[in-house]
Amino acid sequence: MSSTVAAPAYSRAVLAVTMPKRIKWLPVSDKGMPIPWCARPTPGQNKAVTAIKRRLCWICGEQMGSNVAMSLSPLGTINRATSEPPAHRDCAVFSAKAGLMSRQNPAVVAVWVTRGYGPFRTGNGGALLTFDDPEEVLWFKEGRPATREEVTEAIEAGLPAWRDMAEKEGPSSVDTLKQMVDRALTYLP
Ligand SMILES: [Zn+2]
Repeated sequence: MSSTVAAPAYSRAVLAVTMPKRIKWLPVSDKGMPIPWCARPTPGQNKAVTAIKRRLCWICGEQMGSNVAMSLSPLGTINRATSEPPAHRDCAVFSAKAGLMSRQNPAVVAVWVTRGYGPFRTGNGGALLTFDDPEEVLWFKEGRPATREEVTEAIEAGLPAWRDMAEKEGPSSVDTLKQMVDRALTYLP
């Protein structure tokens, strides 16, 4: 039996990405992926509530500073809503590149670095997070930087359903949606 502790066996995809120190402390799955803090079981605790109250990083579980990074779908940059609490910028970038949360994330991901965020009630009694204007937005597709065309395509793919909904609601909803889209388009790569 060896007396030394074996280094974690990371997958190739993980090894190909620069790993922030905070990620190195995380346990490693048998597939070679760091196991994010949010995925570790904590019976009786609502992780999202704890993370938001204590300003903890969703990925590494450590305290965040004044900037936080939301990981968003392309449409999330339009309605400024997400169900996923924020992370450190470095942790969110690592996650986007290594596909850490790939089961939840769409192919195109925006890492939206901002200062302010908070929960709001949705119409159906649930809660989501909204957030302020960004200090910086980084776009990724399948782990690499996304092009402007790829981001535009991803946004266009989701918009028709929202346009239909807005049209059913009336002209003021159509206007509001248009303003939200125009605002989001200023943050394309
Ligand atoms: Zn972190």
